[in-house]
Amino acid sequence: AKLFGQAPSEMEGIKKVKRVIAVASGKGGVGKSTVSVNLAVALKGLGKNTGILDADFHGPDIPIMMGIKDRPLGSKGMLLPLEKYGVKVMSTATLAGEGVPIVWRGPLVNKAIKEFLGKVKWDDLDFLIVDLPPGTGDATITVTKSIPLDGVIVVTTPQKVAVSDVRRAIGLFKTEEIPILGIVENMSYLKMPGGSEDDILDIFGSGGGEKLAKAFQIPLLAKIPIDPQIRIGGDSGEPISAKRDETSEVFFTLAQKVIE
Ligand code: ADP
Repeated sequence: AKLFGQAPSEMEGIKKVKRVIAVASGKGGVGKSTVSVNLAVALKGLGKNTGILDADFHGPDIPIMMGIKDRPLGSKGMLLPLEKYGVKVMSTATLAGEGVPIVWRGPLVNKAIKEFLGKVKWDDLDFLIVDLPPGTGDATITVTKSIPLDGVIVVTTPQKVAVSDVRRAIGLFKTEEIPILGIVENMSYLKMPGGSEDDILDIFGSGGGEKLAKAFQIPLLAKIPIDPQIRIGGDSGEPISAKRDETSEVFFTLAQKVIE
């Protein structure tokens, strides 16, 4: 990770992290957290030491999606991230405690980010995946300004309104000079149960990801179908990428592209 203007002690926790990759979206509900979790678990499956930082202050769902209930333990002034499926996890939800409402204003976001970077013992990770807040609001800007990001992946659905929101997000990362690794189009299509391979339904339309990729000259990294298994994996805390099979292969292909 490259260091910005932060004092070295503020970066103590992540100094041995090789690459910090953010996952962003133009708005909520498009599958940003689902992509973060499955990408991280697939990276681990490919032999990379990986962590997830859940920086989605308004909807910190990563502990649920990873099946984590415990609170992290402290050791010598540092917080030890919890580990599941071999992936280290730290979340704003874990800091606050379940169901505790917090009004995340700028200074508080700043303070939390400092703790995540400075006081969490991430150790020598190959990848730290950062689940950003959705959209281009205050929390997102604070996070992108204070975490030294090596790259960002932008998640969208093919739908017109989602694509329009994601343009703003891409604009933000360009202004911040954060390299955009590419676009992930989620909920791209539904395979009809019992149908043939090309028997699909474009629930949210089609072509949005391709159009964005072309307009901004960035790669379209993956097209992920709507699949009940993906949703069940999230709700049950057993991400589908914990097993490598036909359904999860799309996330392993994505992980391979991130490694390259
Ligand atoms: P975001 O982080 O963008 O708000 P989430 O990852 O929380 O979105 O996803 C929103 C909901 O949609 C979750 O319940 C999740 O399980 C479900 N979901 C996401 N992607 C898919 C998919 N490809 N197929 C089925 N359900 C999905």
